[in-house]
Amino acid sequence: MDRLPLFLNLHKRRIAVVGGGSLAARRMETLARAGAEVWLFATAWSDEFEALRGQYRLGDLDERNAFFGFPLAYFAFEASEEPEKPSNLALIARARACGALVNVADHPGISDFIVPSVLDRSPLVVAISTGGDAPLLGRMLKARLETLIPAAYGRLAALAGEGRAALAGKLTSHQSRLRFWERIYDGPITEMILAGDEPGAKALLDREIAECRPNGSAADDHPVGEVYLVGAGPGDPDLLTFRAFRLMQKADVVLYDRLVDPAIMDRVRRDAERIYVGKKRSDHALPQEEIGDLMVKLALEGKRVLRLKGGDPFIFGRGGEEIEKLAEKRIPFQVCPGITAAAGCSSYAGIPLTHRDHAQSCVFVTGHGRDGPIDLDWSTLLRPRQTVAVYMGLAHLEFLMAEFQRHGADPALPVAIIENGTRASQIVVTGTIADIAGKAAAAGLRGPTIIIVGTVVGLRDTLNWYSPKSARQT
Ligand code: SAH
Repeated sequence: MDRLPLFLNLHKRRIAVVGGGSLAARRMETLARAGAEVWLFATAWSDEFEALRGQYRLGDLDERNAFFGFPLAYFAFEASEEPEKPSNLALIARARACGALVNVADHPGISDFIVPSVLDRSPLVVAISTGGDAPLLGRMLKARLETLIPAAYGRLAALAGEGRAALAGKLTSHQSRLRFWERIYDGPITEMILAGDEPGAKALLDREIAECRPNGSAADDHPVGEVYLVGAGPGDPDLLTFRAFRLMQKADVVLYDRLVDPAIMDRVRRDAERIYVGKKRSDHALPQEEIGDLMVKLALEGKRVLRLKGGDPFIFGRGGEEIEKLAEKRIPFQVCPGITAAAGCSSYAGIPLTHRDHAQSCVFVTGHGRDGPIDLDWSTLLRPRQTVAVYMGLAHLEFLMAEFQRHGADPALPVAIIENGTRASQIVVTGTIADIAGKAAAAGLRGPTIIIVGTVVGLRDTLNWYSPKSARQT
């Protein structure tokens, strides 16, 4: 993140707007709406300012310390004028010398701050920035959000604001207040606001606050926790399900492992506590039993525990083992499926796992047993017209390919290895059963990889344009 978004309270602060054209007029309007004391610095200004009269004062550009006492200065030069012109640069430098942070419209490179696209549902405000790289894209996104966030959400936020103080007096623990609001935003009060019944919503909220158990009552302060076992998919955050995303926003604490991409962790509720329980092959950060115990302990403290797992929790994810303990202790839990690595990686690599002309079945196997390569049922794997997706197979690649051949597989059978599938760093190495081990070693693969064996791999070249990521190849 190059720039930090902030919501400034500009009430009665002196803000300078330099320029007399349309752009300056629009800035002035927004600033006046935010309650700022706007000063116009210009040698000439357009008729538009007539309509804004009374909303600004006039500053004097000739005065050396004209910008003194102004925390912000907006420069809106006319399109015909170059901000880089020495006299303009000097003006900008003067504002900075007076201690003002500077924005030069359409010139993010010489600005201290940039102005986002704003979706205003006050008190709910959404600001969007593309760092000045693609302002139009920002505005298009804003238009989409306009349709997604009903106008009534502003009124809902305002209503919540009215109830906050009264509630804080009754529920002093942060967690019980969170629960309270969650119930409100999920329930009938929100529906009433959306339906336009503000008085009804207000009356119901007042009643909820009046009736909520005062702080200290066991039920409200220590509600029973819950565990969400959530599949986060193979890496690309776009592959999260809506449900996964919703649960990620609800969690108080998250237990995650190595396979969960940082881009996905970025989407977990910001103030949720994060506990790394990751494991690499033969390097277990936390033994499986301890993960189960930890989830139980946290849930018994009343927390909503998010157990985030790569791919799908029930495919080579030990999800089954992790919930055993929860069931035993009668902790409420839910399991949210995710896109498993074989499905995500193959599609991002342009390989269909099944295809009428090539494969009528597909098996997922793990290449790694408890203490080394696993003893697989080779005759089942070698069935004709079948695709095999091997998880955790890279460390034993040579052995696996040799076994395939020893059990009668055609040495020319195509194989693809997808490393870091669906992520920006995705790499696809293709070859045959006979030569793939050498190619994988040459490519220096190290990250999580899926090995796909079968003639469907050959379809990759014809389907290449289906996914931009499939174009990357080593
Ligand atoms: N539950 C997970 C699998 C966990 S086992 C799922 O459903 O996908 C871990 C193995 O998954 C890794 O060793 C690797 O074989 C595979 N894997 C997970 N993410 C991957 C990715 N982004 N690219 C390639 N393989 C991946």
